[in-house]
Amino acid sequence: MGTCICPIDAQFFDQVAALLTPPTLPQIQEYFEVLEAKRHCSGLKVKPDAKHGKGVHSEVNFQEDDLILKDEMLVGAQHSSNKIDCFVCSFCFRFIGSIELQIGRKLYLQELGVSAVDGSGSSDGIGCNTSSEKTRIPQDTIQSLMNSNLQLPYSENFPLPLVVPCLGGCKEAYYCSKSCAEADWDSFHSLLCIGHGSSSPSTEALLKFVKHANETNDIFILAAKVISFTILRYRKLKAAHVQREGKHDSSNQFDSCIFPLLLEAWKSVSMGFKRRWWDCIALPEDVDSSEKVEFRMQIKDLAFESLQLLKEAIYDKECAPLFSLDIYGHIIGMFELNNLDLVVASPVEDYFLYIDDLPVSQKKEVENLTKPFLDALGDDYSISCQELYESFLYS
Ligand SMILES: [Zn+2]
Ligand SMILES: [Zn+2]
Repeated sequence: MGTCICPIDAQFFDQVAALLTPPTLPQIQEYFEVLEAKRHCSGLKVKPDAKHGKGVHSEVNFQEDDLILKDEMLVGAQHSSNKIDCFVCSFCFRFIGSIELQIGRKLYLQELGVSAVDGSGSSDGIGCNTSSEKTRIPQDTIQSLMNSNLQLPYSENFPLPLVVPCLGGCKEAYYCSKSCAEADWDSFHSLLCIGHGSSSPSTEALLKFVKHANETNDIFILAAKVISFTILRYRKLKAAHVQREGKHDSSNQFDSCIFPLLLEAWKSVSMGFKRRWWDCIALPEDVDSSEKVEFRMQIKDLAFESLQLLKEAIYDKECAPLFSLDIYGHIIGMFELNNLDLVVASPVEDYFLYIDDLPVSQKKEVENLTKPFLDALGDDYSISCQELYESFLYS
């Protein structure tokens, strides 16, 4: 146990240390000033402080219902267990398709026997009636829901964006718009896609990595997004640099790492407060304090296992230091310490509430049509989309 030694940590000791050096106060200040200007968030200031970290200060009196801040995520991922319940854009997590598709897809997956409330799936707070007494909807009706041959009454009052497929042709990522598909492809997904258009050198290894994460901890998927994001950003910075320096430079920089560019690509991640995952993870209640060391070692081994699979899938020689266990541990530790759970309310729930609120005269007829679906979905009908994310600004 705990004997894993990461060769990258040894080989790139100095670079890893440089990537993990926390930014200075003036660097943080400057970074946030630029971000605040970009996000047009007037009235809010981030003031770093050596003792307390990054404080968010309000400079105006906000009124009720004022929009205080609109921020972008640094990275986000839908919980694996939630993917069965909610069909959402892989970039902005908006529900997509239609009420019919949301219901049909869920019933279809339920029939396949992949129930989100089984196994390790989280169903916090939602009473989960797992009884097998649920009404069953015939397969062809489910198909009609999914291919929009069957329209449910009043569903037009709950329009959802059309489904846009992944640019790489995988059947894993779907989007609410072309712009979300392109933004995700550009920033994260082109390296992590398992479709034919993927830039990953081995989609087979990628599948192994994802399977391992789904079976152990889906936080690895988020960590992979951070690494993919940094590599893709590095490549863009490098391409621009090579084009600028162009012919004047005779050194063979085409395939050698320009470390300052890697640091620049990593900059937004460097702003997040970090510690090693296995050092900062809270001990589960069933772990005795005498087994503390052992438990932390197991977590470290698990991270190493995951990292090796990821390395096989998306390794880039120029970005080698990113595949150090120390870096991987710090990225995951950053999530452990800063991450936020985001919940997007389900339009399916709103839809059934709307039907329930119809005047009695209309309701009877409509409910004859919708009730079997509500019964078939059982108590899970209202499950919202749940994901983990890390924000650019206030992490
Ligand atoms: Zn979107
Ligand atoms: Zn894809």
